[in-house]
Amino acid sequence: MNIAAKVWRQAELRGSKVAVRSARLDLSYADLRERSSRLAGAVRSAGLEPADRVVLICPTVPEFPVAYYGLAAAGTTVITMNTMSTVPEIEYVLADSGASLVLAWHENAGAARSAAGAAGVPFRELGDGARSDAAPLAEVHEFAQDDTQVILYTSGTTGRPKGAELTARNLDTAATMLLDGFDFRVEDRFATALPLFHVFGQAAVLNSALANGASISLLAPFDAAALLDVIRRDAITLVSGVPTMWTALLQAAREGAPSDFGTLRYATSGGAALPLEVLREFEERFGCQILEGYGLTETCAIATTNDARTTRKPGTVGRPAPGVSIEIRDEANRPARPGTVGEVHVSGPTVMKGYWNRPEATAETKTGGWLRTGDLGVLDDDGYLTIVDRIKDLIIRGGYNVYPREVEEVLITHPDVVEVAVLGVPDSYYGEEVAAVLALRPGSAVPARELKAWAKDRLAAYKVPRLYHFVDALPKGSTGKILKRGLDRSALLNVAVR
Ligand code: AMP
Repeated sequence: MNIAAKVWRQAELRGSKVAVRSARLDLSYADLRERSSRLAGAVRSAGLEPADRVVLICPTVPEFPVAYYGLAAAGTTVITMNTMSTVPEIEYVLADSGASLVLAWHENAGAARSAAGAAGVPFRELGDGARSDAAPLAEVHEFAQDDTQVILYTSGTTGRPKGAELTARNLDTAATMLLDGFDFRVEDRFATALPLFHVFGQAAVLNSALANGASISLLAPFDAAALLDVIRRDAITLVSGVPTMWTALLQAAREGAPSDFGTLRYATSGGAALPLEVLREFEERFGCQILEGYGLTETCAIATTNDARTTRKPGTVGRPAPGVSIEIRDEANRPARPGTVGEVHVSGPTVMKGYWNRPEATAETKTGGWLRTGDLGVLDDDGYLTIVDRIKDLIIRGGYNVYPREVEEVLITHPDVVEVAVLGVPDSYYGEEVAAVLALRPGSAVPARELKAWAKDRLAAYKVPRLYHFVDALPKGSTGKILKRGLDRSALLNVAVR
């Protein structure tokens, strides 16, 4: 079992069909197989063996699947990271994962090269076309179904980023389980500007398209007018994104971008809550349904979906995907009565194996096959799930995850900062914006812009707080722990400086 084997098999079935498309480069299934098998050959001849970890840093371009399936075919465990990652962020993952190679897209290679150099890990640049002269690897490595095939870093419900281990079976299931729900046809043409390093773009979109013989148009960076152009140019039938993207597409259409395409059948939305008014306006303007789903890195992107075959319930995240079970638990960790809000738990074939080298964190998150999500939700009588809040410490800004703890650890090292809490505040475009509440050393008058610059030097840009609020002291519990729940998020919007 190996997701790369499924993609290579498509090359046997439909070699000359376009698999991946972008404004710069189109790759047929045969090209994709040829280039990824050479990359696999190069990786093997560099001495890498199955289960060795490789960090891949690459945007949403056709070279991503070449590298991803090449590494997968060679049997290495792929760790995909955000292209905006800074040197310390990459160093952290290299040390934590024990990776033995870093492969980075040439335009995002700077930080990756420095981090690899500092960590003493070999570095390779991924160039235009991802061509290699190496002899192709003939046979895809065969994984057992519980072998780890991909590791994705996420904070889970708390703390610093940890590597969620996704197995060959997780990926294989995620690549097929949604197909019936959107009435998949092999002639479908997918489009996405989602980051492929993130589980949603990777496991639910890219793998679904390419393991099943459809084509996919890739766009990076996201730009609303450009995505509308792609939908027209490539006669797209399925587009996938996060809520912020739908808002931006609507705005571009209102400003006159062409939006009269008849090919679009469905849009799939996930990653963050989709406001009902965005869903309604999108469907009205573009004449296609949005199917909203819910999932986490730890559930290989998919836990529940709204399915085109059955009645959709806009505002809910749908029903459990095939083979998945959802349970709502009360504070005593007992199943809650239907209609009551509690923590969402997930079990099924997409639930991760565990966190890489973190038995304790794994045991806290996954017990008896059930995964704690850190989300609060409620099930209705028909089994539809509504997510009502998040209890875990996570901010989702325009679809990108910001782990408050990571940002707090950077701000607290500033000599003038005594206490800090980083939290998400409501934002009409990004869904949430990153805010910092700080108590400074007595007498300090350090301006917000200096703290912003401090954070910017150390963190990827989307993690840098945009809002700063200074207080004498932060609210604390009896153990001295800062109580974020005691901070009024909406009020912060009025008092914080940008
Ligand atoms: P990630 O691990 O980056 O995929 O983030 C997973 C988290 O995103 C979930 O635990 C939820 O908090 C949030 N999330 C994903 N999809 C939705 C959705 N449709 N509605 C609300 N929150 C969502």
